[in-house]
Amino acid sequence: MPQKTDYDAVVVGSGPNGLSAAVRLAQHGLKVLVLEAKSTIGGGTRTQELTEPGFLHDICAAVIPTTAGSPYLSSLNLEDYGLEFIHPEIPYAHPLDNGEAAVAWRSLNKTAENLGVDGNAYRKLYHHFSDNWDALSEDLFGTLRIPKHPLLMARFGWYGALSAKFLGNALFEHPHSKALLAGCAAHSIMPLTIAFSASFGLVLASSAHAVGWPIAKGGTHSVTNALASLLKELGGEIETEHPVSSLKDIPTAKTILFDLTPRQITEIIENKAPDSYLEKLKDFKYGPGVFKVDWALSEPVPWTNEHCRKAGTLHLGGTFDEISRAEQDVWDGNHSRSPYVLVSQPSLFDESRAPKGKHTLWAYCHVPNGSSLDMTDVIEDQIERFAPGFKDTIISKNTMNAPQFQSYNANYIGGDINGGAQFFKQLFGRPVLKWDPYHIPGTSMYICSSSTPPGGGVHGMCGYHSAESVLKNEFRISSDKN
Ligand SMILES: Cc1cc2nc3c(=O)[nH]c(=O)nc-3n(C[C@H](O)[C@H](O)[C@H](O)COP(=O)(O)OP(=O)(O)OC[C@H]3O[C@@H](n4cnc5c(N)ncnc54)[C@H](O)[C@@H]3O)c2cc1C
Repeated sequence: MPQKTDYDAVVVGSGPNGLSAAVRLAQHGLKVLVLEAKSTIGGGTRTQELTEPGFLHDICAAVIPTTAGSPYLSSLNLEDYGLEFIHPEIPYAHPLDNGEAAVAWRSLNKTAENLGVDGNAYRKLYHHFSDNWDALSEDLFGTLRIPKHPLLMARFGWYGALSAKFLGNALFEHPHSKALLAGCAAHSIMPLTIAFSASFGLVLASSAHAVGWPIAKGGTHSVTNALASLLKELGGEIETEHPVSSLKDIPTAKTILFDLTPRQITEIIENKAPDSYLEKLKDFKYGPGVFKVDWALSEPVPWTNEHCRKAGTLHLGGTFDEISRAEQDVWDGNHSRSPYVLVSQPSLFDESRAPKGKHTLWAYCHVPNGSSLDMTDVIEDQIERFAPGFKDTIISKNTMNAPQFQSYNANYIGGDINGGAQFFKQLFGRPVLKWDPYHIPGTSMYICSSSTPPGGGVHGMCGYHSAESVLKNEFRISSDKN
């Protein structure tokens, strides 16, 4: 006789993946509880006054093309629950030393027209992917299986399997096209010389033309607040300030889903799974960490290049080769003195982020895992390089190093923001290479965090696929349409 349990499913962790998993299960009438260690929900999507009253800063994720392009989140009508996307006029720009900037417009053609000799190559590379984004995202955000769109995926794999450096050199001559590729590929937090680093560049650059690089009105917490409202409407429950350090901390349930990374999971489940599996979880590799600065500013950043003043996101660091060197340094365990810096300037497009006339700025660079070195000066110098006078606009700032990120969110092991390094082996076999990477073998427990495919980002697809696996294995419900 099956034992009576308090819940059908308990989800540990309320990041975008935990909440997406919970919503998916609740959509099928299951009784679901989400347990969150901290006093607020959201994981990597919280927004807070980090500097001064009235200045709202995204603590982690700020720019959310993967939310806009997520097959599951797009199906939920989250705008009915308060999520509003704001699209900056220019998705991203990449300033260079001579006052020029490479610019990715929402329009693929407009972008290509400004890339001189590389215009045709740029158009040819990206138009298949951006024109067919829905089909591409269905496979890219899908599970390990035969692709639903084999020709498109074969084309994607042909280019994506390369290193960004090889692809950039093979297709482009103009420093602007190469810089645009480097800026997108370096989101992978891997050297641009490693196989498959091009795939990150292709996905992000294509998404800029297909769905844009929006921010959320009021801050990224709107994404998880919307998911939480939907979950509650479906009868789900959320309990905050409920850290889970052992299975005893979890009410009885038919199944448990962890929105956590392998290191925490092995501690919580102890010896419940086969030794061979636990060994593989322990062998899971974490990637470099991040150092982040948030500023309250008296005025917008005085970028030399006027296009940079209209861009939501900026990639700093100079040419392809400079960024490639910087990312290699970090991968090798060193701190770059001229790092690749990701910048978001949301208050230019969303007046709810700062008092009238004032602004917020968000930036981070990659550092070796666990590093507590203060990179504030290096990041500010990198901004000043392309925006002389920037330092004079600073009212105040808040910084977070890699260990502080881990204290803020236990999933950020050593400051790794993606739930594990995303090199070839861990891109497909995440956290362990198997057809159903979500299921913990020999148990009714599952992993639903960004440590599973398709990895980091605010797309909720790890949660969605994990919930689908739960529905199929534990409740004999098969409903996957994505
Ligand atoms: C600085 C930074 C910038 C980023 N920028 C972007 C961006 O611009 N765009 C983008 O798409 N993504 C970005 N990301 C990545 C994105 O935030 C993550 O990929 C995403 O949040 C992962 O979601 P998740 O649900 O898997 O885990 P998380 O969002 O990490 O959620 C995990 C949750 O579990 C909770 N938890 C952990 N341990 C326990 C426990 N033992 N018991 C109970 N609860 C627990 C945590 O408190 C947390 O709330 C960024 C991340 C950082 C840190």
